Amino acid sequence: MADETPEWPPAELDFNKPTIARAYDALLGGKDNFAADRQLADQTAALIPGLRESAVENRKVLVRGVRYLAREAGMDQFLDLGSGLPTVENTHEVAQRENPRARVVYVDIDPLVAVHGRALLANNDVTKFMTADVRDPEAVLAAPEVKDLLDFSRPAVIMLVGMLHYLSPDVVDEVVAAYRDVLAPGSHLFMTSLVDTGLPQQQELARITRENLEEGWARTPEEIEAQFGDFELVEPGVTYTALWRPDGPVDPGNLAPGEQLGMAGIGIKR
Ligand code: SAM
Repeated sequence: MADETPEWPPAELDFNKPTIARAYDALLGGKDNFAADRQLADQTAALIPGLRESAVENRKVLVRGVRYLAREAGMDQFLDLGSGLPTVENTHEVAQRENPRARVVYVDIDPLVAVHGRALLANNDVTKFMTADVRDPEAVLAAPEVKDLLDFSRPAVIMLVGMLHYLSPDVVDEVVAAYRDVLAPGSHLFMTSLVDTGLPQQQELARITRENLEEGWARTPEEIEAQFGDFELVEPGVTYTALWRPDGPVDPGNLAPGEQLGMAGIGIKR
């Protein structure tokens, strides 16, 4: 007999405890979140100036970065680690607008991401969602979704966008290196992270995030750069997200509080 266990809601779902994916969705004004997520988003936004704007900035740089990778760098394979709940302008939409055959695998630890993703993408055979822990690169890279869709003997993109800061200091070097190592020459690594440039709200946000969502680490620009290993950073290097190839003029000397929480960078493997 066919298994009729409904996909919704996943057994692991706990409505009363916030998750990273749902709280971020709440910050972005999305609908895939519950009271506990909204409460955490509201409380944190009240303490951290510009928090909501910084989430929006992070989405914007994701779009600019993927557009650059698909259009200018000619990339047609994307492994989006810590992809978040589907929202507007997701990685596959941006990449497949440039190249309809671009392949995208989304990975997130929150089971809600794959449930919503699969419902949204029932007809797309070049995009897949999977639930996994990014901190286990061996399992992620060996998963059927990844093996079926991505060919790492050719150039590919690995994304840790809005995700690097959920990797704790004791695992970050090993985990990011494992993803760098699997890539062929010509591949790219795209990362954004909560940054520490000495502003008190940056470490404060990291602390609140660790207390409520287990992980949350603000890194200096040098520490973020170090995670690119020997990859060559494309212009303009690791910068505040608003300054990474902006669509219009941005005054670096006059950034809003929300523009000073995150940094972005893309590196190429030579
Ligand atoms: N990449 C999207 C973006 O930049 O808009 C979403 C970023 S959101 C802030 C971080 C995502 O990483 C969440 O959806 C969360 O569930 C996921 N995440 C955090 N730790 C993870 C882990 N160890 N493995 C897989 N996903 C993880």
